Amino acid sequence: MSTEVPLVSKKHKVIALVAHDNMKDELLEWTDTHKDELRNHTLIGTGTTGRLVNDRTGLEVERLRSGPLGGDQQIGARISEGDVDVLLFFWDPLEPQPHDPDIKALLRIAVVWNIPVACNRATADFIMSSPLINDEFVRYVPSHER
Ligand code: PGA
Repeated sequence: MSTEVPLVSKKHKVIALVAHDNMKDELLEWTDTHKDELRNHTLIGTGTTGRLVNDRTGLEVERLRSGPLGGDQQIGARISEGDVDVLLFFWDPLEPQPHDPDIKALLRIAVVWNIPVACNRATADFIMSSPLINDEFVRYVPSHER
């Protein structure tokens, strides 16, 4: 039996950004539209996504490895450390990806750790327009015992 404990997401969030190649234009347009709100938060991202978001918006993004080289797993590890508050993951619904197991693992760990996840622009809009994005938010996460 696993138990859960409360974890406080601060007002200033850590937002992780990942977009597959066919989805990068959508994420770039989205981040450009929301850059003033995103400036209030810390951004991390997989390698190429992070670079492109920085080029397009000027926002600082901590860049991890490229997704197929382990970047998705790095983000998953940060989530399980409690260091990511929101995941914006624009995965490609129409093309197979070489790192499919990593994608599945990232989506799984985001659910385990009960963080908000947007897989498309509409959900990203809902998350960014929630008052909770700029407020403290208590989420329940697994305790260390299992
Ligand atoms: P990328 O990785 O940002 O380095 O392209 C994303 C992915 O394909 O998972």
